[in-house]
Amino acid sequence: MTDINQIRGLHHVTSLAGSASQNNAFFTQTLGLRRVKKTVNFDAPDVYHLYYGDEVGAPGSVMTYFPFPDIARGRPGVGEVGETVFSVPEGALPFWIERLERAGVEGLKSDEAFGERRLHFSGPDGDGFALVEARDGRAAWTQGGIDEDHAIRGFHSASLRLRDDGATAELLKFMGYREIDKAEGARRFAVPDGNGADFIDVETLPNIAPARQGAGSVHHIAFAVPDRAAQLEVRKALMDTGYQVTPVIDRDYFWAIYFRTPGGVLFEVATDEPGFDRDEDTAHLGQALKLPKQHAHLREKLEKFLEPIPN
Ligand code: ZN
Repeated sequence: MTDINQIRGLHHVTSLAGSASQNNAFFTQTLGLRRVKKTVNFDAPDVYHLYYGDEVGAPGSVMTYFPFPDIARGRPGVGEVGETVFSVPEGALPFWIERLERAGVEGLKSDEAFGERRLHFSGPDGDGFALVEARDGRAAWTQGGIDEDHAIRGFHSASLRLRDDGATAELLKFMGYREIDKAEGARRFAVPDGNGADFIDVETLPNIAPARQGAGSVHHIAFAVPDRAAQLEVRKALMDTGYQVTPVIDRDYFWAIYFRTPGGVLFEVATDEPGFDRDEDTAHLGQALKLPKQHAHLREKLEKFLEPIPN
C-alpha cells in the first residue's frame, strides 16, 4: 500500500449539541477555549456552527458544534468517535479536577493509559472528553481565564470505538499513521511530523451496539493537510483505493472532503488554508455572526431566529 504522507494530525472535531448558550459557556468559560468563529451550518443555515480553539483556531485545536435546540441525546456505541482528548501541561490535572468539580461537570474519572495521566469528563450533552498531561510546545489561549501552566493546548488525540478495528487500522496506516503502542482493548496510532494533535486510539468493542447520533455525539472528525494540492493528492489516493470521497467543498475557512470509513466513522480531510482570519481580524475572531455568501441574504432572519450567545 502507498503511504500518502500528507496528513498532519487532526484538524477539527465536529459534534452535535443541544443548547447553543450552554455549549458556548462550557467551552469558553469552563474549558477556557476561544470561540474563533460564530457562523451557521452551511448545509442547514438555521443552525449555528460554533468553533472553539486556540487564539487563531490553529488546525489541531478546533472543536466545533452544531447546536440543535430540541435534539435528543445520542446513545454511545460503536462506529463513532468515543472520546475527544485535549492536551494540558504536565502537572495540570489536579487544577482541572478541582475546576471541573466546582463547575459541576459530570463523569470525572482519573486513570492512566499509554503511560499518560488522563482525566475523563463529560460535556454538557454527555460528550466524551478527556484531558491528558503531555509535553506540548503549542501556545495556550490564556485570555479565557486559565493560565499558561494549566490551559489546554489543543487536541491530543481522539479515540474511535469500533466493532472490528481491522479495516480502519489499515486506513490509518494508508493515511500515514503508524501503530506505536497497545493498551487493553486499544491500539495507538501516531502520525509523524504532526501538528500536535497526532494520536488516534482505536478501541475494539465487539459486543457493543452501534451508536445512535444525537446531542453529545461526534458528527465527524477532520484530519489536517497543509493546502489544496495536498488535499487533491489525498483524495485521489483514497479514491484509487476504493473510497467514495465527496468533491472538494469550500467551507470558507478551509476546504473539505468527506468519506465514510469501514468502521462507520465519518472522516473529513481539511486544509490548513485559508484559516479563521480570512473574514475578521484575529483580535475579534468569533464575535460577529459570519455568513457564507450563499446564505448572506438570510442575515436578518437568522439574527432574530438563532439563540443569542454572549461574546
Ligand atoms: Zn468538518
